[in-house]
Amino acid sequence: MEFNQPIGGNELPRFAGPGTMMRLPANDSAEGLDACFVGVPFDLGTSHRGGARFGPRAIRAESTMIRPYNMWTRISPFDSLQIADLGDVAINTFNLLKSVDIIEKAYDEITRFGAAPFTLGGDHTIVLPILRALAKKHGPVGVVHVDAHADVNDLMFGEKIAHGTPFRRLVEESLVNPGRVVQIGLRTTGYAADDFDWPREQGFRVVQAENCWHKSLTPLMQEVRDQLGDGPVYISFDIDGCDPAYAPGTGTLEPGGLTSAQAFEIVRGCRGLNIIGGDLVEVSPPYDHGGITASLAANLLYEMLCTLPGAVARDD
Ligand code: MN
Ligand code: MN
Repeated sequence: MEFNQPIGGNELPRFAGPGTMMRLPANDSAEGLDACFVGVPFDLGTSHRGGARFGPRAIRAESTMIRPYNMWTRISPFDSLQIADLGDVAINTFNLLKSVDIIEKAYDEITRFGAAPFTLGGDHTIVLPILRALAKKHGPVGVVHVDAHADVNDLMFGEKIAHGTPFRRLVEESLVNPGRVVQIGLRTTGYAADDFDWPREQGFRVVQAENCWHKSLTPLMQEVRDQLGDGPVYISFDIDGCDPAYAPGTGTLEPGGLTSAQAFEIVRGCRGLNIIGGDLVEVSPPYDHGGITASLAANLLYEMLCTLPGAVARDD
């Protein structure tokens, strides 16, 4: 079996070649794939600064720096998994609700072929249609959710679907198992204690950023693995979980956030779980500087690939 390989920086200059994630082959469908990258260039659900529609393109551009072998974990996902870039979902940029349906249908198709999708967002609204599709196959899933915000608003300007509401909808629609949802990095100010207590009342574990300050998150992730067990787990990573110093290119900044090292610890700590897919959302390139945020996002998506049960470690 020949597995797709990213084009290396010694084969073709990093600033040349196809605009796919890691310069992998572009596929039209997920048939025959174990995992895939998918762009969702959607920011119709943002409440403040927009620009996440440009996230997939910027993440792909920065991904040309990523090499196939993980120098710390020794995982080499392209040795044992067939992976390609499916391009971008053709959302309707004039209609949020239609776009949400279009996204769900696109992920129904990916799920039908059994490929684990890793999504380049896009704002956080998109986790709702993605999990509507994935839950049809897997049932209610566990989620490792990294974010500065709980995203459990009932309404925003009277609307049920926006980037600050998906985790309430996921509970209401029974797409997640609340006892297997962990939110990490939540912080700063809210309107009332209920902003973070509502998810706790549903059964989520909420790990506020203050609980993460000044320490390694590797011990936390051992607890997360023990809590989440063997069932299916999805990773939803809002880049604003990281401190604006590490991720300035996003829409709703909150200081006092996670470091990029802690972000790596969280994603690497998902290894051992039954990971079925993940997303990296809320990268807004117009507010980025020198690709700092998009580069971190691209690397975290690569790290998500390395958590897949079928990814193997290699000692060269
Ligand atoms: Mn979010
Ligand atoms: Mn957020």
